[in-house]
Amino acid sequence: MADKSKLTDQDRSFYEWQLDVPGMGDEGQTKLRNTTALVTRIGGLGGPMALSLAAAGIGKLILVHGGNLEPSDLNRQVLMRHDDLGTPRVLSAAKTLRALNPNIELETIESHVTANNVDDLVAKADIVFDAAPRFSERFWLNAACVKTGTPMIDAAMYSMEGQVIVIVPGATPCLACLYPEEPSHWKRRFPVLGAVSAMIGNMAVLEGIKLLTGIGKLSLGEMLYLDTLTMGLRKIAITRRSNCHVCQP
Ligand SMILES: [Zn+2]
Repeated sequence: MADKSKLTDQDRSFYEWQLDVPGMGDEGQTKLRNTTALVTRIGGLGGPMALSLAAAGIGKLILVHGGNLEPSDLNRQVLMRHDDLGTPRVLSAAKTLRALNPNIELETIESHVTANNVDDLVAKADIVFDAAPRFSERFWLNAACVKTGTPMIDAAMYSMEGQVIVIVPGATPCLACLYPEEPSHWKRRFPVLGAVSAMIGNMAVLEGIKLLTGIGKLSLGEMLYLDTLTMGLRKIAITRRSNCHVCQP
């Protein structure tokens, strides 16, 4: 059996350029390879997340996304291909990821996160990347992650702005500390420029890679908020709520 603690020659040739990133090296790369990441959904935000995680050599990606590909998806959903219009989005995305990096394992789930499937999905993952457009999905994921101690990187965007929150159960506030109820301003349909959603998705991936490899300083207990109109990045402190119904006993 191959020694999972060591990189193969194939790994080394594929990831050569990032192995030189200070702090990454064989150790960081091996940690990525031994990680299973759940990404839901894989549209404008989650698609670039999955793409960057695949390129970086995450061991396994579980892609969760329901529905078929529509023309209006293509301005931002970078994993999808025009030829696949009318077919399941998650399969189009998996095809793109396989073509990019055949060395990673992929699992596709042709449905959204629901109250019924969330526990099983999160149980399979070492880390969760949350890009769900419905807030109910975010709450289910948050609760399952808190219950299992699974870290979750939560990303959201609206028009030219976006935010990323790193949730490490036990160490940081959870999503319900910040939002005890679904925020009233949350919209299912919203303006999206693909460059903005890709940028926020990649901020989330960077925080995830830092968390997994130990590189750099994680943004714990703060929301990263980027306004791309001015390229202003704010770090907004967030705190645990003593009466949080999800993360407090
Ligand atoms: Zn909480």
